Amino acid sequence: LGLGALVLALGLAGCAGTDDDADGGEDAEVARVGVAMPTQEHQRWVSDGTNVAAQLKDLGHNVTLEYADDDPQVQAEQIRQMIEDGADALVIGAVDGSALTDVLAAAGDIPVVSYDRLILDTPNVDYYATFDNERVGIQQGTSLLVGLGILNPDGTENADGPEGPLNIELFAGSADDNNAGFFFNGAMDTLRPYLEDGTLVVPSGQTEFDDVATPGWSGDLAQERMAQLMSTTYAGGEDLHGVLAPFDGISRGIITAIQGAGRGPTIADGLPVVTGQDAESDSVVLIDDGVQLSTIFKDTRQLAEVAVSAVHKMLTGEEPETNDISTYDNGRLTVPAYLLAPQLVTQDNYQHLLIESGYYEAGDLA
Ligand code: BGC
Repeated sequence: LGLGALVLALGLAGCAGTDDDADGGEDAEVARVGVAMPTQEHQRWVSDGTNVAAQLKDLGHNVTLEYADDDPQVQAEQIRQMIEDGADALVIGAVDGSALTDVLAAAGDIPVVSYDRLILDTPNVDYYATFDNERVGIQQGTSLLVGLGILNPDGTENADGPEGPLNIELFAGSADDNNAGFFFNGAMDTLRPYLEDGTLVVPSGQTEFDDVATPGWSGDLAQERMAQLMSTTYAGGEDLHGVLAPFDGISRGIITAIQGAGRGPTIADGLPVVTGQDAESDSVVLIDDGVQLSTIFKDTRQLAEVAVSAVHKMLTGEEPETNDISTYDNGRLTVPAYLLAPQLVTQDNYQHLLIESGYYEAGDLA
């Protein structure tokens, strides 16, 4: 759709505000889109915000982009302000999926896109753009099994694998993020057969989501919990072979704690294998150095495209594209979703996936 057609379509749809076209002189109808992102602390959300805003602007829309410093109240206030300022559509990466019910009650008929994280307990969400979150967990669990030598890289059983039992510990993400449960369940479904047959053991005994969740996805809290485990469960030099970690910031906290307890510094020197997510540049460097085992690449350029296309279609009265209409029940409705494919990143493929694709430049990983 060219801008001219868009302007026309928006006019016909009757749901866009009118703004003066500063340099053209003529009035152009453009939509005002509020983009609310959770935090600038994690690298991915900075890319998400930048990509969504840039792609919306390319389509001629006006964009307000806000980050909430990981504070649910701040985010609710930002969204309230966007609605008050006449937003025609909202794209929201929620800090706390359950904390937006009241503010979204004021959103009326404007399209609301739940970005990456599902917004819960509200009927005021129209679309969910995300990655296949369960698949992320399965990839993390599978990667851990490969790193432990139980599976071959192609996912088949390794006939010459270790006898076991192998010791692992588990970390999950933030309980206020609906994704965290999907990641953990996907990983645990993958690990469970090996826990049940005794190939894998969790010496701390901490295996329930609530025991292993990491508030705010905080690397510092993960580091504290891991240090605590090292000075209790592993204080006598017990083996620790692997750690399930759901996000690179958490992975680095875990690795720092284990190295601080005198193990490693690399996997080849006996550091346990640790998974991750988001392909943060600091973690890709650690993967290249043989310190972190793996991460999951979620191309934020693609996610932005899905979200922006959905906004654009809804503003012009069209149906956005979906490929999953049955998985994501937010407590009030099953939100039509589009799931993108996450990709496992290891030492062997990061050049191809992250550099050749233009996601990073080689210098970003120096
Ligand atoms: C995202 C992950 C990210 C985590 C922490 C989750 O909702 O899906 O990609 O690692 O938040 O920011």
